[in-house]
Amino acid sequence: MNRKRYAVVGGGINGLAVARQLLLDEPGASVTVFEKEGAVAQHQSSHNSGVVHAGLYYEPGGLKARLCRRGVELVRRYCLENAIPYDECGKVVVALDEQELPRLDAIHKKAVANGVPGVRLVGKEELREIEPNCIGIRALHSPHTAIVSYGEVARHIAREIEARGGSIRLNAPVRRLIERGSSVHVELDSGEVDAREFDYAIACSGLQSDRLAQQSGDAATPRIVPFFGQYYVIDEAFKNHVKGLIYPVPDPRFPFLGVHFTKRIDGQMTIGPNAFISLGRENYDGKRLNLRDVADFLAYPGFWKFASKNLRATLRELKTVASESVFVREAARYVPSLADVAVTPAVRGIRAQAMQRDGALVDDFVIRRQGNVTHIRNAPSPGATSSLAIAEYIVRDVLHRQ
Ligand SMILES: Cc1cc2nc3c(=O)[nH]c(=O)nc-3n(C[C@H](O)[C@H](O)[C@H](O)COP(=O)(O)OP(=O)(O)OC[C@H]3O[C@@H](n4cnc5c(N)ncnc54)[C@H](O)[C@@H]3O)c2cc1C
Repeated sequence: MNRKRYAVVGGGINGLAVARQLLLDEPGASVTVFEKEGAVAQHQSSHNSGVVHAGLYYEPGGLKARLCRRGVELVRRYCLENAIPYDECGKVVVALDEQELPRLDAIHKKAVANGVPGVRLVGKEELREIEPNCIGIRALHSPHTAIVSYGEVARHIAREIEARGGSIRLNAPVRRLIERGSSVHVELDSGEVDAREFDYAIACSGLQSDRLAQQSGDAATPRIVPFFGQYYVIDEAFKNHVKGLIYPVPDPRFPFLGVHFTKRIDGQMTIGPNAFISLGRENYDGKRLNLRDVADFLAYPGFWKFASKNLRATLRELKTVASESVFVREAARYVPSLADVAVTPAVRGIRAQAMQRDGALVDDFVIRRQGNVTHIRNAPSPGATSSLAIAEYIVRDVLHRQ
């Protein structure tokens, strides 16, 4: 039997999900995950909102819409079968005034087209039954939107990979993937070339995905531009003012959603995330500046085009970066009883957001195969929700495409 050899770069939830899927579909295949850190899921996969998105906003037919819906089913089942906590706390998208109603209706239509179960528009009385402290004139209720710890899911998948005979090489930063004939070689930052020849490689390297792709001979764009998201945890005594997830109606003038309430699987209630340019791709405490990362986005024409088109959004986000009370006030527009709540900062997340040369943020997932190497070039939210479906898609569709 021809035992195929696969290299997967990146031990975040997507890389791990791909490795697991390979072992499920081809038991006996040789699968190695290369991860640059000393443990799996140290980046986006453990610094996110933990929401299992139901698929409300995404363009019907697009990869995000398809893989998010399939991903929800797979993540739910995975958590159930492996006793990983999963809470269908539900979500409301709330319109505060008449102007927001047409946009709320449009989201409802997309959600229905995407097959989101149980989703419906509710009036203000019913909104009060779902979220007693939330004001708003109308809302979209998604009762099956859930929360989970993606870090825990990822660590569970890592154990499963090893139990199925795959291996995870930690502290193994990959410099580039080299194709020679029909095989792929993995070169590490140290200069070491892994002794094995692989049949295929799949790069799922999140915040570093553009660099690894370019160093491996793939296109330079889209580039990753890092945007951090700050969260605050609200005072324990007030956490029951919100039952589940309360979101604003997205405003097309702003590229990011704006702060909202997110319940965590550990029971904490958080506000956030905002979105602002990060002075480092992995700069979680916000204190250190990474010159290479900053130089990269400053030298990218797309960044300046994005900045000039989004001055208003930059100002809105800057206010929430500069002032904790503005941050809280933004969220309290939906839950006025929390206007003066005490909050403590939580660890930031940093989004690996792909940007085109013209400054447009890439909305859909981008998964590109070149020869025997496949790169995930863009997997923003709901990338964790979709991870098990992204893995199915890569293993069953992309790898089998000639
Ligand atoms: C603030 C924020 C909130 C979010 N909220 C949600 C949400 O509520 N729901 C949702 O579904 N999604 C959410 N997301 C998106 C979700 O977290 C990501 O889509 C998902 O975690 C991406 O997983 P990944 O494995 O592709 O990337 P990552 O988790 O970033 O993993 C990439 C891995 O590759 C490794 N790596 C990088 N370069 C190399 C290299 N050269 N060699 C070896 N290893 C390398 C890294 O160390 C890392 O472990 C959020 C993201 C952020 C930032």
